[in-house]
Amino acid sequence: MSKVVIIGAGGVGGVVTHKCAQLPEVFSDILLASRTESKCRAIAAQLARPIRTARVDADNVPELTALLRREQPALVINVALPYQDLTIMDACLAAGVNYLDTANYEPRDTAKFEYHWQWAYQERFQQAGLMALLGSGFDPGATNMFTAYIAKHYFDEIHTLDIIDVNGGDHGYPFATNFNPEINIREVTADCRHWQDGQFVTTPAMSTRQQFTCPEGVGEFSIYRMYHEELESLTKHYPSLKRAQFWMSFSDNYLKHLEVLGNVGMTGIAPVEFQGQQIIPIEFLKQLLPDPASLGPRTQGRTCIGCVVSGIKDGRQKTVYLYNICDHQACYQEVQSQAISYTTGVPAMIGAKMMLEGTWQQPGVWNMEQLDPDPFMADMNRYGLPWSLIEEPGFDLL
Ligand code: NDP
Repeated sequence: MSKVVIIGAGGVGGVVTHKCAQLPEVFSDILLASRTESKCRAIAAQLARPIRTARVDADNVPELTALLRREQPALVINVALPYQDLTIMDACLAAGVNYLDTANYEPRDTAKFEYHWQWAYQERFQQAGLMALLGSGFDPGATNMFTAYIAKHYFDEIHTLDIIDVNGGDHGYPFATNFNPEINIREVTADCRHWQDGQFVTTPAMSTRQQFTCPEGVGEFSIYRMYHEELESLTKHYPSLKRAQFWMSFSDNYLKHLEVLGNVGMTGIAPVEFQGQQIIPIEFLKQLLPDPASLGPRTQGRTCIGCVVSGIKDGRQKTVYLYNICDHQACYQEVQSQAISYTTGVPAMIGAKMMLEGTWQQPGVWNMEQLDPDPFMADMNRYGLPWSLIEEPGFDLL
């Protein structure tokens, strides 16, 4: 029986709140706090069980610390934006509260996707006897767990990792992003980095592509190599990896819009002066695009996200593919959200459950793969993200 404070009432915040509310035996008291309280109340109104809401500016450490001291929760689930990670970690330390997030810290003025800012909190969390769990979404999150599970049960040593994230869904808009547009566009326009023989190799964004056929009839998609933050922690924690790559599917239509927006400067993150005001183009673009939380009713199709791992077992070379398939409309029926927010929010709830039940409770700052994957993987099956595993899938990946 534990009290949690969930920060952020966007697409992911809605799903986490629904999923936590479904488990009163673990999450006995839920406070949903965000910058705009009306969004918290709208989510609360969808639930079968009462929760409390509050307004908080998570950029403001004293304000958030005061809220946490008043509430004394066991855990903060941070599903605001990556910009708030450090201020929320600071407030958690000040108020003596455990911490969980789904995306690594990013400064607003550079899109870097690096863990070092958060890893630097290791000693402070350890000394305070508190735990911070980093990246408990799907990717990062479930993908780290998939890798850890495969490494634990199927290999003596893993050598290559390909994380493949396919969204076979269609929302019917000419252009929209499935999660926060600003964060999404910063991610996909960044230089690609992949791990090769002990170092990261940089190539231009979207310059490497291949075709991938998903199992269970989800379809064939163009997937593009890009950088994703779990590559940093997974290559650190699995030093036997000789190559690690992340691939994501994009439609030609999405890429064309992105190219044009980039060419005219609309995806820029540096301020420009407009009629006497400083405007950040990508923030303005976010205002114009559909709110990802509103895509639920109109998105059809399935996602298919998984990990292909190869390596050595008992002296023999082998390959294993572990994946989840998730249906956008089934998610909407359950929690009024599309599958991208769902696949992020469910692992956030499960990570929180692991911490609150004591299964994973250990002071310090941890990436998911540093913890035992077995109870997490069992809960993925139990709480809406069942997975399948294929040995020797026969893929011919670049
Ligand atoms: P949204 O933009 O839909 O929601 C973000 C929410 O955070 C909004 O409600 C926003 O408030 C609130 N917020 C922003 N700034 C503050 C602040 N200073 N104080 C309090 N609340 C604030 O984003 P998503 O729900 O799509 O994404 C949430 C997080 O999940 C992001 O960090 C994203 O990177 C991560 N993510 C992780 C994935 C994974 O698989 N690991 C996949 C997808 C997303 P307001 O409404 O007032 O703007």
